[in-house]
Amino acid sequence: MIPFNKPYMTGKELWYIAQAHAKGHLAGDGGFTKQCHHWLEKTIGCQKALLTHSCTAGLEMAALLADLEPGDEVIMPSFTFVSTANAFVLRGAVPVFVDIRPDTLNLDERLIEAAITPRTRAIVPVHYAGVSCEMDAILEIARRHNLLVIEDAAQGLGSSYRRRPLGSMGELAALSFHETKNVIAGEGGALLVNVSRLAERAEIIREKGTNRSQFFRGQVDKYTWVDVGSSYLPGEIVAAFLVAQFEEVDAINRRRLLMWDVYHQALSSYEAEGLLRRPIVPGHCQHNAHMYYILLPDLARRTAVINSLKAQGVQSVFHYIPLHSAPAGKRYARTHGELPVTNNTSDRLLRLPLWVGMEEQQRDVLRALRVALEAKD
Ligand SMILES: *Cc1c(COP(=O)(O)O)cnc(C)c1O
Repeated sequence: MIPFNKPYMTGKELWYIAQAHAKGHLAGDGGFTKQCHHWLEKTIGCQKALLTHSCTAGLEMAALLADLEPGDEVIMPSFTFVSTANAFVLRGAVPVFVDIRPDTLNLDERLIEAAITPRTRAIVPVHYAGVSCEMDAILEIARRHNLLVIEDAAQGLGSSYRRRPLGSMGELAALSFHETKNVIAGEGGALLVNVSRLAERAEIIREKGTNRSQFFRGQVDKYTWVDVGSSYLPGEIVAAFLVAQFEEVDAINRRRLLMWDVYHQALSSYEAEGLLRRPIVPGHCQHNAHMYYILLPDLARRTAVINSLKAQGVQSVFHYIPLHSAPAGKRYARTHGELPVTNNTSDRLLRLPLWVGMEEQQRDVLRALRVALEAKD
């Protein structure tokens, strides 16, 4: 069976973990965590990076920093992972789902303004497949209506929009290092802060609502409970693992892009025949090959292709069950208008295996896909 995903390890993870072990500092915010923060700040150009247990935790921190009141509204796509919405629902806010663009499958910026009400506080663009949302338009709408922009850049490490790295454009952003992403820590994430007025409070919220970070910098002479907060910081073992991954990010993304291009080339004739649609990456968006997906003509064809691939030993998966159609989505969120592109995409999208180390097997995936697509049913 060719699995859909297989986590890639660089070989240096255990070496760095052994160093953390030897130093005897295992709680968070030691040397490895600081190294990760500096690396993210330098690479992404954000004001402040803070490691978290997950992207989910980063989004929860962002929702706390947004100071939402129950009933406040947050505009986001329904075509996303549950955490995008849950982080805000936990604060009593209401996700307002807007449809996605048919080309990139990202939040359709042309539909945002009509969804804004006096209760709207934030916009959450999700950079699907590591391809950027139309950030110029989104930032301009946010500026005009005085809204926060919180980027869900879970899939976007190494991608950029008009040369600006994903995660550097909103007031806040969250990254994921879950083992299904390009760069991993098992479970892990980061909150990125791009405005100084939120930076200090972000540290406090992450440290159980205390000013412990300021204490360690010698800015206060004792630390105490100053705000709401929780424990959002991972220990040094996770950070040590991540240092090894960060060192290889360029090589990882390069290898993924090569495989992405192989899929893209090989499938162009099927697109020409109308058997599928390939991903669309606008020229001003540099992507990180987080994902290779295809859009099949309809749900029946997609189900047939998944089953055929499976019978041939290739695991493929669909994405996402739209949040507005899920039980909790109906209870906690609101939909702006019909979401035809979201509903249609969710029925037709199929993700193919794409992981570093499967280069040799990619031909087998393509051969199996050919059989699946050419089968008459
Ligand atoms: C993976 C993912 C998340 C959640 O990341 P975790 O680190 O697992 O919490 C959130 N949003 C999107 C778009 C994702 O792809």
